[in-house]
Parts: sequence; structure tokens; C-alpha cells
Amino acid sequence: MKIKEKVSFSTEDAVRGNGKVNLMGMSASSLADLMEMMGEKRFRATQILKWIHQMGVRDFDQMTNLSKVLRGKLSEGMEIVVPEVVSCENSSDGTRKWLVQVENDSCIEMVFIPEGSRGTLCVSSQIGCALDCSFCATGKQGFNRDLTASEIIGQLWIAADSFNQFSSTTTRRITNVVMMGMGEPLMNFDNVVEAMSIMLDDHAYSLSKRRVTLSTAGVLPALDRLGDVLDVSLAISLHAPNDELRNKLVPLNKKYSINEFIDSARRYLSKMPDSRRKVTVEYTLMDQVNDRASHALELSSVLRELPCKINLIPFNPFPGTEFRRVSDVAMNRFRDILHREGYTVTVRTTRGDDIAAACGQLAGLVNDKTRRQARYKAKLSAQQAVRILS
Ligand code: SAH
Repeated sequence: MKIKEKVSFSTEDAVRGNGKVNLMGMSASSLADLMEMMGEKRFRATQILKWIHQMGVRDFDQMTNLSKVLRGKLSEGMEIVVPEVVSCENSSDGTRKWLVQVENDSCIEMVFIPEGSRGTLCVSSQIGCALDCSFCATGKQGFNRDLTASEIIGQLWIAADSFNQFSSTTTRRITNVVMMGMGEPLMNFDNVVEAMSIMLDDHAYSLSKRRVTLSTAGVLPALDRLGDVLDVSLAISLHAPNDELRNKLVPLNKKYSINEFIDSARRYLSKMPDSRRKVTVEYTLMDQVNDRASHALELSSVLRELPCKINLIPFNPFPGTEFRRVSDVAMNRFRDILHREGYTVTVRTTRGDDIAAACGQLAGLVNDKTRRQARYKAKLSAQQAVRILS
């Protein structure tokens, strides 16, 4: 079936190497277009969506409310495929990390963090990351490619399946999703939007828009488009209160400055129907880098016009990094100043660091298409050599 020529799916890569269309990453509207094109009624889309994402069924023969003829047509030209799980590790604090194969030579990581009745899945959007933030392990792995919508939503499917969430007897484990795994979600706009709309869909995972968060380092043209197509919670990775420092930590800042980023986040909020919505400002605290009292005061004035809450993240170290975790004294001082200035501040507790599953530690296995990994490895072995010699 030559689907690509007839229909313009937002997920280009729905058609896999074997010529079959993978339905895993198709939103309700893409599936409805597909049904129409096959001469079927559009409502078949919601039936298929429910089978895949609410009942965990990947075999068309089990979709008993579809006619035999349609099931036959589907089996012939379509498939429902998730990436393969290579390994799964459990942390002593209940955090679980999966290594998932997405290419012959590349794997991504995803993490589940339980917290009382809440269960948050941290999902990856790219193999590696092109942004190269100086304090992030993913950036050091270089970049291979964007994940397809199937590979993004497939992470949720895999986790739900592993918790037996598809069986009606178990209670739901995954209540929240954060796009805070490997990659910059707004650099993979179409596939991320397609996958996130499946997360929100009542016929699929039916997650509340407040419990689905997209985190970005500030790809502004994409952020300006996001509010037109999706209503989810937004987190912005700021990490510095002025451009001079942020340029060093987040190179993308040289293109889009802090003030432009904050303006764009405000525009995003203004597109939301609920005027009480707030942006989460992420600020990773690094010892002697961005943790002074003066930084806290500067941050407070920079954020004055943005309805926001601030999430402080103690830096999580990884091999070869020159940065150190903030001291408790500096972190408390930073938090107290922002409190006094009237902000709601939370400190992100470090979870899963015994299995390298904490923020910024997700590195996966990236077959790097840039030269970054080679430079990082050279630096690592130079450091090891110095350590051995000294
Ligand atoms: N590209 C997206 C998602 C990144 S991961 C973004 O930039 O928002 C989610 C958060 O973890 C980001 O705020 C990121 O800056 C932060 N982070 C990255 N490395 C970290 C580290 N080593 N320690 C603590 N936080 C880190």
C-alpha cells in the first residue's frame, strides 16, 4: 500500500523500512485520516487507539470490534511496533531505568520515578542531543537523530506494559510524563507534538494536561508554535540569571537571549485558556558557578513579569564533568532568597542516582554523528591518565 503518497502524516517516519505503516505513533487525527483513505469510517481511529494504548493490544486479530476485512487489510499494510528493551535497572529508591534500542547501534534511556501516589515517567525525544549544554551528560554523547513519534509514545507503552497497566485489575502507575529525558523536545517538534497528543487523548492515556510537561532549553520559534497546537505544562531550563553566564552553560542562549526566552514563555501562557497557569523555571545549581546570593536576587528580578514557580535542581555529576554539586548551605540560601522575594520554590530531590538515572545523567548509547563524543572521550581519557600518573 503506497500510503506516503496519498496522505501527509505529521509523522513522516510512520512508514518503516519494511514498507509497513507503524500505527503506534499515530494520533487520533492521523489515524482517522488513514482510515478515511482506506475507505473506512473515521471513528475506527478511536477504536484502534483504545486497543493499542488502553488495552495494550498489538495484534490486529485481537481487535474484535473491527470487521474481519478491515483487520485483514490492517495486518497486510500496517503494524504496531515498539522499540526493544535491552535492560531494566531498579534503584534502591524505587526509580526504574530502561535502556531501549532504537537503532542497530544506539539506545535511549527512560526513567520511572514513583513518589507516593504519583508516578512520573521521564521520556526521551532524541538519540543524544545537539544543544551541548556544558553541564549535561546527554550533550556529551553527541547527536544521532530525532526519535519518531512511535519511539516516543512507545516509551510510555513499554512502561505501562511493564507495570501491567493495561490490565483492568491493576491501578495506574504512570500519572505524569515529563519530556526531560535525552534530547531537546522542541528540536523534534512534529513527532513530539504527535506523541504528546496521544498522551493527552481520552481514548489513549488520558493524562491531564497539567501532568504532562515539556521541558525546553529555549528553541524559540518552536516554542512560539507550541501553544497553537498543544496545551501542556511548560518547563523552561534557565540555569542562569544573565546572558553572560547562560551563554557559557547553554550555548543556545547566544541565539535566543534570556529576555526573549521569558517573553516567549509568557506568550505561551497567554495562549492557554486557564489564566492561572504557571511556567516551571528549572535552575540547576552548580557549586560556585550560579549559586551565589547575587544570582538569586538577579534571577528574582529577571522573572518578575513571568507567572512561574521555580524548581531548583542540585547538579548531578557524571564522569568527566568539571562542575560540582551545590553545597547544602548555598542551596538553602538560594531558596530562601527566592522565597523572600515571593516565589514558590521547590527543590528537586535527586532520585535514582545509584543507577545514573538522575537529571542530566541519561546518556544511553549514542552512535554520535557529530564529533562531540570523540572530543569528550579524549578529554575523559586525558583526565584518567592524569589521575593515574599523579
Ligand atoms: N532539553 C530539555 C530537557 C533536558 S533534561 C531541556 O533543556 O529542558 C531536563 C532538565 O535537567 C533540564 O533543565 C536540564 O538542563 C537539567 N539537567 C541537565 N543536566 C543536568 C545535571 N547534570 N544535573 C542536574 N540537572 C541537569
